[in-house]
Amino acid sequence: MRLIKGQAAAEEIKQNATARAAELNGKGIFPSLAVIRFGSRPDDVSYQKGIEKRCGEAGAAVRVSEFDENIGHDAFMEQFKRINNDAAVHGIIILRPFPDTVDESVVTKAIDPAKDVDGMSDENLVGVFRGSEDCFAPCTAEAVIRLLEYEGIQLAGKKAVIIGRSLVVGKPLAMMLLSKDATVTICHSKTQDIRSISAEADILVCAAGRPGMVDCGFVKKGAVVIDVGINVDKDGRLCGDVDAESVKKYAAMLTPVPGGVGSVTSWLLVEHVIRAAEKRS
Ligand code: NAP
Repeated sequence: MRLIKGQAAAEEIKQNATARAAELNGKGIFPSLAVIRFGSRPDDVSYQKGIEKRCGEAGAAVRVSEFDENIGHDAFMEQFKRINNDAAVHGIIILRPFPDTVDESVVTKAIDPAKDVDGMSDENLVGVFRGSEDCFAPCTAEAVIRLLEYEGIQLAGKKAVIIGRSLVVGKPLAMMLLSKDATVTICHSKTQDIRSISAEADILVCAAGRPGMVDCGFVKKGAVVIDVGINVDKDGRLCGDVDAESVKKYAAMLTPVPGGVGSVTSWLLVEHVIRAAEKRS
């Protein structure tokens, strides 16, 4: 079995984004991302630091707006509208999950689709559904496609099974794989006989958020297995949804966690910010 690390695909995206940012900088345009964070969860803070580092390397600015995790909906929306309407902001990312006090559906309707660099608005999701190249797809879903394409894995005519149906990963990814002419099945927590459905996949994408759930019983011999899960195991270590030790005798390729899809996702966000700035230039 070959491990598909995300680093090489991420490096290609980084080089491209950096060159495009330099071109914008030369015209006096400085791409800028607003990061919205609720509270100070350690994983959010560390993700934010990663965003700041990568944007800095590429030549994009980051502004962080931190909100109390108990902020009321109206108070948040007032601040959010200021960020959303700020002409100096090209892209906005809101670190999830939202607090219970803020109505996420109102925010997804309010966000300017042109600044919605992580594809949460209806406009961008419709774009994904239509197979438009022009929209901002959720970064994680797009990262899976970009990684598969970078690795030269043929998608047309292949059976793809996705475990997970969230709007962030499973559903948009299903539409994107369909646009690439794969035949797609989506599984979820109510799916009956998920093992045998998964075991028919040429490409199996695991995005359930269940540590080590996918073992060799889910995997056809020769399948490509993409592990989107980012979980913490009982020993406090980062792990995916796939039990790598178990699937390695069947899978032809597997993405590791960490170091797989996540690294591509992170650089795609930067690429989206640059694209948002280019569109407005
Ligand atoms: P989510 O919103 O919790 O959705 C999980 C999905 O998995 C749901 O559709 C759920 O089904 C399904 N599911 C849960 N348990 C299942 C089971 N036992 N069998 C079959 N399906 C099951 O999570 P998410 O935001 O999509 O994220 C999924 C994972 O990806 C998480 O580990 C997250 O940390 C990770 N993630 C990674 C990246 C990255 O860059 N690599 C980015 C975002 C998220 P129901 O709909 O029936 O509840």
